[in-house]
Amino acid sequence: MQIPGAVVFDLGKVLLDFDYTIAAQKLAAESDVSAEQIRGFIDHSPLLVRYEKGKITREEFFEEVRRASGYRGTLQAFSAMFSDVFTPIQPMIELKQRLTAAGIPTYIFSNTNELAITHIQATYPFYSTFDGYVVSYEHGFMKPESELYERVEAIAGHTGGSICYLDDRLENIEAGARRGWKAVLHRSPGQSVEALSRLGIGHQP
Ligand SMILES: [Mg+2]
Repeated sequence: MQIPGAVVFDLGKVLLDFDYTIAAQKLAAESDVSAEQIRGFIDHSPLLVRYEKGKITREEFFEEVRRASGYRGTLQAFSAMFSDVFTPIQPMIELKQRLTAAGIPTYIFSNTNELAITHIQATYPFYSTFDGYVVSYEHGFMKPESELYERVEAIAGHTGGSICYLDDRLENIEAGARRGWKAVLHRSPGQSVEALSRLGIGHQP
């Protein structure tokens, strides 16, 4: 069996859980629309896709949310609320740390935006310990677009079955599997740790 030479982690819902509900409630308190409507602009929305593909700046993103919601706060206050939505998934961070301790290179592969990453870098030390990063807004593509997977292969210097990939979204996993990656649909930390163990990596001591 070929042991993977690199492990590629999705970020959201794999290493960090996130929930826009609280952000939407806080923003709605200073807006003309409901928390549910705010959530519609910022969570899996066409506007968020443009931001996460790097097509619009932080200021333009804010301006569109402001226009659609009547939000009365500053860009700075908005940024803090919009980005403070994460909770670490500790068993997955520990899995990453075991891989690093074993000398296996690890990579971040995420559909995300610069507000989120600025916050994550400042808040979670583990984020700075990966061997490389492929984040959508720096490349103009999002998973499951194949261009972004090609960037991962280029940065990691691995292809096919030499890459192990964890992601919680099926369409992303399927795109990895089509390239021959050992793609693991993340459902729970226990299941992912077990899946990697079967590949010969990351088991608990
Ligand atoms: Mg995810």
